[in-house]
Amino acid sequence: MGVLPRSVEKVIEELERLPGVGPKSAARMTYFLLRAPRDWSASLAEALVKMRELTVTCTECFNVADHDPCKICSDSGRDRTRLCVVEEPLDVVALELSGVFDGRYFILGGVVSPAEGIGPEQLRFDELKERVKSLLDKHVDKEELEVIIATNPSLEGEATASYIVEVLKGIDEKTAGTLKISRLAMGLPTGADLEYADRLTLKRSLEGRTRVYARGD
Ligand SMILES: [Zn+2]
Repeated sequence: MGVLPRSVEKVIEELERLPGVGPKSAARMTYFLLRAPRDWSASLAEALVKMRELTVTCTECFNVADHDPCKICSDSGRDRTRLCVVEEPLDVVALELSGVFDGRYFILGGVVSPAEGIGPEQLRFDELKERVKSLLDKHVDKEELEVIIATNPSLEGEATASYIVEVLKGIDEKTAGTLKISRLAMGLPTGADLEYADRLTLKRSLEGRTRVYARGD
């Protein structure tokens, strides 16, 4: 028999399922909730239920949205010649906040990770292929579509990026548009010591280098 009332244990168990939350933090959060005003628990519970009721998955980019297609996919002002492939919805948030990209997105739903038992069939490679094909079909006169692969610079992210290239290669043969694929250059974080950067980061930084001077510029 547990020391705590079952209803309290239940909340701890549920909170423990959240990413990055261990048993101790789950218990701390639960005690916080127990002491918080009653209204607040009710409004938290209601917000969670409403969030699931009022959101949909965009069938074009697979982001969470109010409507399908989402705001970004239905915005005719965005660059239709660029499609950025990311792992998760939060990557879209980060890129949008940075304001450096005005094309559209595609959310893969994770990365290929044999260690965690995630194979290509669990990710949206088929949907990506269809999306790119349909965009290329809508393009005219060999107009280019650039697919920018923005998976994380981890081993899994790199493997997934190579897999995306394999999946997309050659699909523009029978379409009006032509395909170009690029990989986001991952630089060293500001303040990082070159010496301590891992090989992969350095490799990417090198490959993604930009020219700062050349004779005749
Ligand atoms: Zn969308």
